Amino acid sequence: MAEVETTNQSILVVGGGMSGITAALEAAEAGHNVVLVEKNPYLGGRVTQLYQYFPKLCPPNCGLEINFRRMKLNPKIRFFTMAEVTGISGQEGDYDVTVKLAPRYVNEKCTCCGKCAEVCESEIDNPFNFGMDKIKAAYLPHEFAFPMRYVLDPTISGTEEGKKCKEACEYDAVDLEMKETTFDLKVGAIVWAAGWDPYDASRVEYYGFGEYKNVITNVMMERLASPNGPTGGKILRPSDGKEPKNVAFIQCAGSRDENHLPYCSGICCLASMKHSTYLREQYPDCDVTIFFIDIRALDRLEDFYTKVQGDEKLSFIKSKIANISEDEETGDLLLEGENTNTGEQIRTSFDLVVLATGMVPNKIEIEPSPDVSYDEYGFFAYDPEKTGIYGAGCVRRPTDVASCVQDATGAALKAIQSIARR
Ligand SMILES: Cc1cc2nc3c(=O)[nH]c(=O)nc-3n(C[C@H](O)[C@H](O)[C@H](O)COP(=O)(O)OP(=O)(O)OC[C@H]3O[C@@H](n4cnc5c(N)ncnc54)[C@H](O)[C@@H]3O)c2cc1C
Ligand code: SF4
Ligand code: SF4
Repeated sequence: MAEVETTNQSILVVGGGMSGITAALEAAEAGHNVVLVEKNPYLGGRVTQLYQYFPKLCPPNCGLEINFRRMKLNPKIRFFTMAEVTGISGQEGDYDVTVKLAPRYVNEKCTCCGKCAEVCESEIDNPFNFGMDKIKAAYLPHEFAFPMRYVLDPTISGTEEGKKCKEACEYDAVDLEMKETTFDLKVGAIVWAAGWDPYDASRVEYYGFGEYKNVITNVMMERLASPNGPTGGKILRPSDGKEPKNVAFIQCAGSRDENHLPYCSGICCLASMKHSTYLREQYPDCDVTIFFIDIRALDRLEDFYTKVQGDEKLSFIKSKIANISEDEETGDLLLEGENTNTGEQIRTSFDLVVLATGMVPNKIEIEPSPDVSYDEYGFFAYDPEKTGIYGAGCVRRPTDVASCVQDATGAALKAIQSIARR
């Protein structure tokens, strides 16, 4: 059972992505005790799944590592992975919180030697790669995972397979007796930084995601391009492993659509442009077409748009793609729609299609829900009448990492002010 001493001077941060990590560090470095709760077995959030960051196209792990080092050096932060908040009651300056910890079946003695995975024969869909490959049921979530510790999937905990993993471990790190536990916290303020989930692309039925193998989403593209992804970093067609020669991106796939997400997801135009650079890096002759309604690349990110426009094999076509159908023999995809600049009909085949799907905010899903305000789309809205629980990062709006970091710093300050007021 976790023992955590907190008082109403402490701050709880929910979500260990870039926003949550930033809020936790800023509050702790200002002298406050912070508890950070993350539901995944590792910290870093969605950024850990990206290949490169725009606009500079650097690897996201650089930024994360610096923050993990700051966390390790700061005794005022305690963090829990595989943890979720199940109850919040009280008000600003005086919250009672219940946290549920799922069993990892591996304790802190783990050295990441990998022997448990070697003997384990069961496999599970790899959640880190959106199920595009399988991993052993005893696994390290990814090679930069923080904390660097294995996990045993619950499906093998009570089985012979689980026992084999335990026997293989020379460090007594496998603990099959671990159970789900809960613990309570008292805190004065809460920062909700639970981030976003990709919109379920299969709901945009006319694009055939889930049915046609070569229709993928933008987050899958990040994993395909990543050296620690399902293809070792080579972007290949899922149906037959061939190198793509002609790739289409469909923007606003579900976003800005009253039947799906009515809002603009803010960063998916830039994500597709970034993906065109991934393709160009690997395939100098690959044709890339971006079908868009409007291009949204604001402020300094407009320079990135200007830069990719210099690519002669990249075309932007203003259009709404109405339908995709598949050639069952080749796996190629026929896109149909209208060029909204010229009025011409589009009927063009591509060998890979990437849907620029949007971001859905992770609201507080606790009963009874604490009193916070959301806007009409489910993003946290700042309400001066409701203080004590503050949204940070993509729960407030779909945006890039730099904006999330600024926003989370502001949320940490608001949390500190809540404590000071009481
Ligand atoms: C295809 C694509 C490419 C992108 N590329 C870039 C880029 O190149 N550059 C850039 O700046 N931005 C990019 N972004 C945006 C970037 O991913 C976000 O800005 C960033 O992830 C926001 O961080 P966050 O901490 O707010 O949310 P997240 O990264 O989503 O982190 C939230 C964390 O909270 C955890 N969590 C969720 N619910 C709970 C709960 N109930 N309890 C506990 N924990 C919970 C999650 O597991 C996660 O770890 C891209 C986005 C997409 C879709
Ligand atoms: S749990 Fe044991 S066997 Fe598995 S990686 Fe950790 S130390 Fe090695
Ligand atoms: S950022 Fe671009 S692709 Fe994403 S919803 Fe907005 S306009 Fe559409």
